[in-house]
Parts: sequence; C-alpha cells; structure tokens
Amino acid sequence: MSFPRFSLASLVSTLRGLGAPRAAVLQEHEITTLRDLLWQLPFRYLDRGSLVELGSLGPQHCSMPGTVRPLVTIVGTIRQVKSIRTRFKFHILEIVLSDDTGTAKVMFYNQPYLAKSFKEGERVLIFGPLTQGKYGVEFRVPHYELLGASTDELFVQRILPVYRRLGPITSKIRSKLIQDALDAVHPPEDHLPPPLRRGLPDELQALRLLHQPPDDSDLEALNEGQSLAHQRLIAQELYSFSLGVASRKEKRLRRKGQAVVTSDQLREQLRSYLPFTLTPSQRRSFKEIADDLRSGKVMNRLLQGDVGSGKTLVAFLAMAMVAETGGQAALLVPTEVLARQHVATFRKLLGERSNALQVLLGGMKAAEKKEALLRIQSGEARYIIGTHAIFQEMVKFHALQLVVVDEQHRFGVRQREAMKEKGIDPHWLVMSATPIPRSLAMAIWGDHDHSTIEELPPGRQPVQSFFFNRNQAEQAWAGIDGQLMKGQQAYVVSPAIDPQDESKVVLRDIQTMELLLRKRFPKATIASVHGKMKSEDMTDRMKRFVSGETHILVATTVIEVGVDVPNATIMVVDHAERFGLSQLHQLRGRIGRGEHAGVFIMISDQESERLKALLALQDGFAIAKKDLELRQSGDFFGTKQSGLPTFIVADASRDVEILTECKRRAEVHVQEGLKAQERLWIRLEHKNFTLAEIS
Ligand code: ADP
Ligand code: MG
Repeated sequence: MSFPRFSLASLVSTLRGLGAPRAAVLQEHEITTLRDLLWQLPFRYLDRGSLVELGSLGPQHCSMPGTVRPLVTIVGTIRQVKSIRTRFKFHILEIVLSDDTGTAKVMFYNQPYLAKSFKEGERVLIFGPLTQGKYGVEFRVPHYELLGASTDELFVQRILPVYRRLGPITSKIRSKLIQDALDAVHPPEDHLPPPLRRGLPDELQALRLLHQPPDDSDLEALNEGQSLAHQRLIAQELYSFSLGVASRKEKRLRRKGQAVVTSDQLREQLRSYLPFTLTPSQRRSFKEIADDLRSGKVMNRLLQGDVGSGKTLVAFLAMAMVAETGGQAALLVPTEVLARQHVATFRKLLGERSNALQVLLGGMKAAEKKEALLRIQSGEARYIIGTHAIFQEMVKFHALQLVVVDEQHRFGVRQREAMKEKGIDPHWLVMSATPIPRSLAMAIWGDHDHSTIEELPPGRQPVQSFFFNRNQAEQAWAGIDGQLMKGQQAYVVSPAIDPQDESKVVLRDIQTMELLLRKRFPKATIASVHGKMKSEDMTDRMKRFVSGETHILVATTVIEVGVDVPNATIMVVDHAERFGLSQLHQLRGRIGRGEHAGVFIMISDQESERLKALLALQDGFAIAKKDLELRQSGDFFGTKQSGLPTFIVADASRDVEILTECKRRAEVHVQEGLKAQERLWIRLEHKNFTLAEIS
C-alpha cells in the first residue's frame, strides 16, 4: 500500500496505470474525479458459494411460471462461437462453454458485434436466468464478464462485486482501478452532522466495505443496497443535496423580485376573463401565487394537482396578472400539441385581447418565427406560449416577469440559471400532475414553495375503469360503439413498439391496431398519431380530433400529457401491462373531462396487482401511495415521469424519511452559514449545483 496522496476531488487521471484511452472512457461516463469512480458501486454481489458447475446445470435451475426467476452464475472456457443469421435477418450468436464437468450454451440475439468479444480458449463468467430451450437448458442474453485467458483463482474473496461494464473497462479492470483509488486517497473531512452518521462507517470505510466486501458481509443487505455502508452514503448524498437546495433557496429569497402592483381595475379585468367559478383550491393556489408576485421577492412555486384539476386556469390568471400590468409571461410546454391546445384555451379566455398572445414553436416557418421573435422583443406579445426547445435558444424578451412550466420539472433550474446570467430573473411557476406525496415533494423541491389543487372541478363524472383479457377485447370495441352512437369520441392507446422487438409475445403495435379498428368500425373516421411523425401532421390530425371530425384516435403515449378533448369519453389501452401506473393514470385523465361520464378500459393478459389498483382507485395521490407499497420503483416514480432528481446511491422515494431529516438539518445549517470547505464539498457531491447557487 502506498502513502495516500490524493483527495476524493483529485482527477482519475492521477491514477497510475490509467492510460488516456481508459480515462476518456471514464470521462464519457461522467467519471472525472476519484470520488466519481468510487461512488459508482457494484450493481450486484456474487457469492462464490453460488457458482454452479456446468455438469450439474439442469431444469431445476430454470424459472417456473409464476415464481421468481432464479439467477445462476457459471464460469467456463469458451469452446465455440457460432454466428447464425436466420432467414428474416435475425442474428443469433451461440457460444459454447465448458469446464471440467460439462458444457453450457449461451445465446445472444441481434448483437453480431459481440462475436468479436468472445475468444475461444478464454474464460468468461455468465450470470442470469437459465431457460429451457429446444435442445436443453441455455442462457439467453445474460450478463457476462470476460475473464481473459488467465486461469488465476477467480474469487480471491468470498464475495465478488460486479460492475457495469464501461466500454473496454471490464469489471475486473474496474476492481483494480478502484483498489488503486482506495489506496491513494486520504480520508476526507466528514461534513455529515454527527446525528446523521451515528453508528455508520465513515465515507472511506463505507466505500471500502462496498467495493471489497469482507467475507462475513451480509450478502443480502449488500444486494438490496441496505448495508450500513450504503446507509452512510445515502445519508451523505441526501444531506449534501439538501444543503445545496437550502442554499439555493436562501439565495433566491435575498434577491429582489419584480413586484406586480395590483389594483381594483386589475382585479376586475381578471374576473372578467373567468369562464367558471374557481374551485376552492384553485382560488387558494392563485392567492398564494398572487401574494408571491406582489411580495417583492422572487417566486419559485410548484403547483401540484391531479390530472384535470384545472391547473391551466390558475396559470392563466397568474400570467394575466403580469401581462395586464405591463410585463410578459411565458408558458413552456413539452410538446407542440400541448402548446397549440393552450393557445386555443388562452384565445378563448382572452377573447378580443388575443392579440397579446404569441405562440413560438420549433416547427414554425422562418418568416413566421422571425415575426414572433420580433413581437416578443418589442413587448407587443405579452402572453407567450411555446415549447421549451425554443426557449433554449434564448429568446430576447421585452419585460419577462413570469415563466410557467407545464408538466416538465426537469426543465427549470438550469434554464433559470441561464436566464439569470443574462440578467433576467423572472418569477417561476412549475405545474405538475405527478402525484407525489407531500413530504417527498417538500424535501425534493425544497427550494420551491408549494400549492396544491385538491379537488376536481364540480360536475365531473368519475371515470369507470374496466379490465379485459385479450379474448374479451370485443367487449371493449362494443363499449366504443356505444359512445360513438352518442356522438362521443374514443382514444385507443397502443404501446409504441419497435418492430425489431424480439420479445416473443405477439404485440399489436399502432399500425396493426389501426387496421384492426378500420375493419371493426368501417363507418368511423379513424386517425393515428405517434411520436415519430412530423409535427405538422400530428397537429393536423389532433386538430381534426378536437373538432370532432375524427371519431377514433389511435395513439401512443404522445397524448398522455395534458391533452384536453372533453368530447372524448372512452379510452381503450392495449397491452396495459406495458405502461407504468402513473402513465395509465395520466392517460385515464384524458377522458371524462366534460359533463359526460368516461369509460377507461385496459386490455391485458396479465391482471397484476398493479393494474387492479387502478380499477379501485381514482385519486392520483392514492395511486402513488399504493405504488410505493407495491414498490415498483422506476415505475410510478420513474425519474423521467416525475422529474425526481436521480441520486447515485439514494432513492428519493425509498429514502424519504432520511431525506426529510436532511432537509430540516440543512435549512438550519444554511441559516448559520456554510463554510468554504462545505461549499466545495457540495459541489464535489452534486455537480449540478452552480457555484453561484451555493457561495
Ligand atoms: P390540468 O390540471 O390537468 O392541467 P386543465 O387545466 O386542463 O387540467 O383543466 C381540465 C378541464 O377542467 C378543462 O376542460 C377546464 O376548462 C376545466 N376547468 C378548469 N377549472 C374549472 C372550474 N373551476 N370549473 C369548471 N371547469 C373547470
Ligand atoms: Mg394541464
């Protein structure tokens, strides 16, 4: 062991034996410091005791229907590598391995380039479920680790950490780099408050325990990410995050915000725009926003409300407050379909004042776009609606005072920072239909204030939900018949499927579905929309559905976010098992938006507990809670959906208790003032905090 010379902040390139090509690979995976390298933990730990000899592999290792698939680990020498191309250009790579006791077969599909990696005579570790094939058992697309030609004792210790392969950096090379790094760094100063680190190892000890687990480690705890060492890193990751967030909030509250001056005239004007009486929570949420806008501070508020709860109207009022007092307000949305829909809504609300409205889209023709930009720059446009892609190009505003972000949290912090650098510091309102439990939302978006719309507008009929097997699909189509007869419209949602999909289940993709429906509903007008089509075509087809000309819209989840067509009252989702709970709930939110009762039908051959939850529950928050119980992580709280930040070791939804405690402590600590060392530490832990936010 050499004398520790480096800190965790040192660059990986300081490691001896890390050549430029490997350093470049690490860089590609955002591993630049020793801390980055050490915090990327093994994704699995294997017990040498569980290694199976090839001669004893058999059906007893295969998965049985309805049970958890057992995972099998083997090590063998490569004897044969066969590339097979089938008639349909399907590629099969078949590898035969042997050890002293027998042989085993490993298959990969449509990855012909893998053939080069497997060299006869070299050893390989295979890890995955075993499947009963036509001619015996085989591994299909398992995890593998090339071990090279050496016949060294493979497991020096009982527990082998397995890393995700990074290009040419195999698990084995990685272990060596990590060993070097662990030896090279001196223990960092511990910034975790003592109550949070009680009973846990320090950072460097924890990293050692996780990368080089001693023989007596609790394998299960390691594999579940629940060991004491994990807990230490989780606490540290969440505490440093919370410090950054608390600091960001403290900075914002010290800035001077543009204050909207209200008057009776303004109030009168806003009232005249209202098409309905606001629900109590819409009223409360708007009041909270209005107070912020008047306060002289910079607003940063999250407006949460289930699908259909009426967030748009609240956003409109906030925008009107700014726009009617000489400022500009921008509404940013994730898709052009949604942008156009908001434009239509705003046009109705503004009536003869619609001239103050300007839309800005990626698909605009050059001349049109130029004119739009001019209108925004001159201040003629005061309500601006567009896709965020456009705003990334930094439009020049005349007097931007408020930004509203619809259905897309991730767009936010960075953008705000970019604007601030250009000297614009508008109020910020983020709207979300992702029903995240309040405590979690408060901890994650600790630098936001929170408003919640709790009830749906009155007169809303609950959506009736049904579940049918594939062979009962006719009942779903009959349901559509019923609605069409009443002059209503229907959505049919199919999962977006790549025809290359090798899974053996016969899936109906969107084109197949459209054909099927044309046969079943010869008299109806049917159109389909999906994410890969040109935006003009999509807009055009959506327009025709909105106007009622199209009766049945076949769609992928492009319609999931925000689309509002009150006359559409039935939705059939094919292959419902392919969607996350939140997605299904969002989809269901598309119907029953008018005064007519909605019907929601899921077709699937697997009536899982997940899908059943949706039949019983209407409320997004209850569904979120259920989902947490079922612990399908990466489903409801899939980060793309929810905009939850991703941590390396921590999991925001699982670790909410510790996160809440971190938030509380961090806020107190930021009030006392951060030390320079701590600021550096936050930056080392979370690169996405800018210096300006924490210093
Ligand atoms: P979301 O919160 O999902 O964005 P929307 O803003 O699209 O919901 O509103 C859903 C529907 O409810 C719209 O058709 C809208 O016109 C209607 N709505 C909103 N507020 C009210 C209200 N206070 N009373 C009656 N209908 C309302
Ligand atoms: Mg909406």
